[in-house]
Amino acid sequence: MMLLAASTAIASANDQDVTLNGNLTQGGLLYGRVPPGSHVTFDGRALRVSAQGRFLIGFGRDEPSQARLRIRYPNGRKEQRVLSVARRTYTVQRIDGLPPKQVTPGAEDLKRIRREAKLIKDAKHRDGAHTDFLNGFDWPLKGTVTGVFGSQRILNGTPKRPHYGVDVAASTGTPVKAPAGGVVSLVHADMYFTGGTVMIDHGHGLSSIFSHLSRVHVAAGQSVARGALIAEVGATGRATGPHLHWGVNWFGRRLDPELLVEPMRTASD
Ligand SMILES: [Zn+2]
Repeated sequence: MMLLAASTAIASANDQDVTLNGNLTQGGLLYGRVPPGSHVTFDGRALRVSAQGRFLIGFGRDEPSQARLRIRYPNGRKEQRVLSVARRTYTVQRIDGLPPKQVTPGAEDLKRIRREAKLIKDAKHRDGAHTDFLNGFDWPLKGTVTGVFGSQRILNGTPKRPHYGVDVAASTGTPVKAPAGGVVSLVHADMYFTGGTVMIDHGHGLSSIFSHLSRVHVAAGQSVARGALIAEVGATGRATGPHLHWGVNWFGRRLDPELLVEPMRTASD
């Protein structure tokens, strides 16, 4: 497959088929390839297919175990693939006997929270034609992983929102670099939950979000290369200490960033 990857995009008779690479698992990302001009539908959505026949599919934290992919090839042949999505088990922590503490945001805060959620949602649903996702991902910084994708806490019997990203502890001011290229789709100096926030659209519905930043070095609409300095670690928004929260989305589905990168290596490695 890798040997073929560099070859021509001209479809020949023997590659009238779909190839899929990546993680066929909850939170995973699949890289697909079809003969250019094919039409691909997943979960009722017509997917963007690049001029080279590349497309993406992402699976959410709680993705059902079967997903349907439909392809119509340029020669008119139709195919349906049933994808078996591997289930994962997530860390669930139950903490009972906590003193009841109701922290209810006031009306002004609620308006702000809704407004900011809409900005993030709009950025997630971009479907850029660029294909920076094809070149791979790096960690945006080095540090200690202190929070993993999918984990959840149940406080006094009430399940809290699962953790949709990876947390990396690092001191305030640590440079945050673009894990892959793309277009900056959102910059916000101080959101209620996520504080200083940057989003990058990597193309075809795949995006990254970086939260709790102390400083931002990019502007919305700017193109960034993989490895470019985009921001600095902080503890802004609802954070208990300086760390980077890195989330990856495929449209509305939350993916596991750790599946896109090599295992974290510490500075001493
Ligand atoms: Zn986090």
